[in-house]
Amino acid sequence: MDFSHRRCTCAVPFVLLGLLPACTAPSARPAQSSREQPAAAAKPITVDSTEEQIRQAVATARMGRKLTPNTWPNGARIAVCLTFDVDNELLQRANPLPVPLSVGEYGATTSVPRILDVLDRHQVPATFFIPAMGVMLHPEMVPAIVSRGRHEIGVHGWIHEFWPGIGDAAKEERLLTQSIDYLTKAAGKRPVGVRAPSSGFSPQTFDLIRKAGFLYDSSLLAADEPYEIVSHGQPSGVIELPISEVGNDYVYYGETANGALPSPDAVFEIYKAEFDLGYQERTMFILTQHPHVGGRRSRIVQLDRLIAYIKSKPGVWFATMEQVARYVKPPRS
Ligand SMILES: [Zn+2]
Repeated sequence: MDFSHRRCTCAVPFVLLGLLPACTAPSARPAQSSREQPAAAAKPITVDSTEEQIRQAVATARMGRKLTPNTWPNGARIAVCLTFDVDNELLQRANPLPVPLSVGEYGATTSVPRILDVLDRHQVPATFFIPAMGVMLHPEMVPAIVSRGRHEIGVHGWIHEFWPGIGDAAKEERLLTQSIDYLTKAAGKRPVGVRAPSSGFSPQTFDLIRKAGFLYDSSLLAADEPYEIVSHGQPSGVIELPISEVGNDYVYYGETANGALPSPDAVFEIYKAEFDLGYQERTMFILTQHPHVGGRRSRIVQLDRLIAYIKSKPGVWFATMEQVARYVKPPRS
């Protein structure tokens, strides 16, 4: 399958991995990139690179010690985080025309209420990563999420901008600060978690995340369980709650995946298998959904079914990412 023309996305680092699109804009026409500029300032690894240069090239945000506890709260054997990247119209920034915008708009008008209903029915928490300007466009979303009293809201950029494309650390920092402030005001609580739009980390992004005091990040993919991020050889104190491409609805339902694996039944089986091995390994299961994608009718019935399946197992801890991060965070030495 040719992924080379897939657009930059929400949760899977297409640009960084060159493999997956994650949250591209479904049926967005004409094609455009959510990257407004090419990735900047990442020096390529070449055959002429020295060992030290290669070591440094990968050193910004590496996997450190695993943080899965011996047991989760109440003796649970697995922690389950349901996460939603509420991108909506902001994937259509480069070509904001009514039809492609309406594809994203569906996420706010229809999917978010539908998702909240499913979560209510099961009485489980979730974490919503929302770009600040997505909150502005749909001011009803955050109160609807917050009013449930179980959910968390995390940072997902200002306009879902691609941070490596900014090419200016001060500007990137300003956007991050603006995003935190906007969500703090909207939700009445300062967010403690961040998921990079399009999983785009510039060479400066991790330092900015740490400087902003985030408890955790959820953009990297180096494991199936929580770990501490090591930056340039030093433990950072920032917890990573890693996502995965297989747990992301965009891989299956995004516009360039259409026809590849469109069956919600098949997607359910993949998610189930991911959960089942996590359950066996006593670690974590993190699901990443995009309301305007996974919230379509035929798909959300499978989410409902998946939650019911997971709930049928003993020893499952449904939690927000904040709750998991606080639980696994090691005491300061
Ligand atoms: Zn996103």
